[in-house]
Amino acid sequence: MLRAFHKDDRFPPLKTVAVQTSAESRAFKAAALAYFQDRRDTFARRLFRSPFSGVRGEVSAAICTIAEPKESTLEAIASGRLALSPDERDRVLAFAKALREASGVDDFLRRLPPLEQSEPAPDPSELYFREPAAREIGSAMRSRHAHFSASSLNTYVECGRKWFYRYLCAAVEDKGSSASFYGTAFHAALEELHKEFPHPCDVAVAMLRSKLQGFVHRAFDIYASGFETRIELELQRRRAIRTANRYVEWLAAQAAKAPFTVVGCELPAQLTIEGYDFIGYIDRLDRDDGTGNVTVIDYKTGAIAQSADEYREKVRQFKEFQLPFYYWARTAEGDRVTRLALVPLKDALLEVDPVSLEVVPVATESGKRSGGTTGLISITDLERARTRMIEICRELTDGTLEHFPVTEDPSACRYCAYANACNGRPWPAQELFGR
Ligand code: SF4
Repeated sequence: MLRAFHKDDRFPPLKTVAVQTSAESRAFKAAALAYFQDRRDTFARRLFRSPFSGVRGEVSAAICTIAEPKESTLEAIASGRLALSPDERDRVLAFAKALREASGVDDFLRRLPPLEQSEPAPDPSELYFREPAAREIGSAMRSRHAHFSASSLNTYVECGRKWFYRYLCAAVEDKGSSASFYGTAFHAALEELHKEFPHPCDVAVAMLRSKLQGFVHRAFDIYASGFETRIELELQRRRAIRTANRYVEWLAAQAAKAPFTVVGCELPAQLTIEGYDFIGYIDRLDRDDGTGNVTVIDYKTGAIAQSADEYREKVRQFKEFQLPFYYWARTAEGDRVTRLALVPLKDALLEVDPVSLEVVPVATESGKRSGGTTGLISITDLERARTRMIEICRELTDGTLEHFPVTEDPSACRYCAYANACNGRPWPAQELFGR
């Protein structure tokens, strides 16, 4: 076997390879022998990364680097995730075919793509600089989406580049995280609860609690595949159960204070303003049994504003459009919306204490800030948010946008799915000296 191996074209000349070549060729041979014994991926990867694979080192390294955590080498190659020149792609595919179909080591070696010839070392006296490449002429871009959501506008004001990646290029598929699946499962459980009990004040707390626990279990079973590991799933499920108990306590207290009816959950909200269509889903809509006033509720399983003042400031600074959009969508439906609320469902150790803004006709003095979770928001503020929504839509669709600037706030980048592609992101102050 050893003789046959060394007779192969790939190994004897080795003129272009340095002193370590023989060690590398031995390592390649050892990996091939090991691979064809039990086809373990460790050896497949070693073969792929070897200079004898017929694939350029940078290419095999890049494919292995961007492979998914549990993906085999052959799966990583088959994913076609890395854009390659036709010649490089042929070499990679030839390697994969050889590895997959070869009956043994000799057959594998015969099937491998030929090694690339190393170029002779350049003569330093002949070195010259190429002319700089001409910059491509850019052209303006516009949103091709027929409608907008409040979250897409929030993304745009948070970071124009992120909006560009997500809504214009659809650059990376965001597969979600355990945090996002936690939110999805919790929302689903609450929807089930309120569908069954639209009038919470008629139901005993113990019943609400045990029902919601059951719905949480079922929702986490349905979304189990979204969690990376079984342990992660169970930890998040327990966190949700504890939070659900706190949610029921708050719900029962609210219902006892002023009975209300849950009009709907995950309610479609649609609105057309000045020719721009907006679409979204309201987590929960309540109608007060006594007054008929409507409260729009948004569940938050991530970080939210800590106080009513903070949320109202975000609306005033045009950083937050979700609740203003829901307000206008339901107002257009004929509802008398008098309250907007964010319900925190993130921290199982804290009581559920929503950030709640009563809608009032006249603007309040911004200087009078309580720091509490309840406050006021004026219709003027909501109108200004609506006007800004239109301006942004116009900006995104009139075809004049040539550049999508990155955010100046490093915290926006923390969980950004496009961070690897983004070369202009701001660095957190504490990391600046470590660069
Ligand atoms: S990494 Fe930061 S700057 Fe870049 S797109 Fe994401 S949020 Fe924007």
